[in-house]
Amino acid sequence: MASKSYSIFSLKCPTCHRGDLFPTPTFSYREPFAQYTHCPACGQIYFPEPGFYYGAMFLSYIGTGFFSLGVVMLLHWVLGWSMIASFLALIAIVAVLFVWWFCVSRSAYLNLVYSYKPEVAARADAGTVNVTTPTTRKST
Ligand SMILES: [Zn+2]
Repeated sequence: MASKSYSIFSLKCPTCHRGDLFPTPTFSYREPFAQYTHCPACGQIYFPEPGFYYGAMFLSYIGTGFFSLGVVMLLHWVLGWSMIASFLALIAIVAVLFVWWFCVSRSAYLNLVYSYKPEVAARADAGTVNVTTPTTRKST
């Protein structure tokens, strides 16, 4: 699978689409902000420079803003919920999806910088890449 959307939403390495970006599952709330330092399959660095993921913060902000507008407009205008109920529902939805959206934003930002390389994926599949076991980082 070589599409960017696959890499972004499955939280896989943008270069090989094999290694995970995060050590915990997608909707896990255990260590939600821990991320591998590099790809466990191909060795792609996930933290190319200090503060790299500040851009992901802006992607997250923009996405959350439009999502919030859409949810409140749907609940209030289309379904006729009160404004208070609409915002309480929004807060509940955003609280549940927060960790997932954090991970997707980081994955999308990493995919803006790196692209899929079939030859790297083939080497990762063949097991000819010598990659050390990645550690995790919790901040930018
Ligand atoms: Zn990789």
